[in-house]
Amino acid sequence: MTRVNCPTCGRIVEWTPRVTWRPFCSERCKLIDLGAWADGSHRIPGETADIAGQDLPAPSKSEADRES
Ligand SMILES: [Zn+2]
Repeated sequence: MTRVNCPTCGRIVEWTPRVTWRPFCSERCKLIDLGAWADGSHRIPGETADIAGQDLPAPSKSEADRES
């Protein structure tokens, strides 16, 4: 039986028609890999982190004053 390693997580995947996502072990790993190719980042479906910057601390007052 042919076995390959999932390109995303390295798990052993049996290379059979039964494995829908081959060479990936799961749809999740396939989407991760395709997503990485599509936009150059490793975005994981369902685990999107909100990094829009809402929680970034405001510039300290001394920093702002130094500008003017
Ligand atoms: Zn995998």
